[in-house]
Amino acid sequence: MLENVIEFFRNLPAKKCATCGDTIEEQHECYGNHCDKCTKL
Ligand SMILES: [Zn+2]
Repeated sequence: MLENVIEFFRNLPAKKCATCGDTIEEQHECYGNHCDKCTKL
């Protein structure tokens, strides 16, 4: 069951920042729709 969840997220396209359009590295789920740079602003 857990492997299905991991595979589900692998198949998702990379998140992009809603502000600058940069690809978001998903290190934390709290990033939301903004990259690390725009989150701090
Ligand atoms: Zn950004």
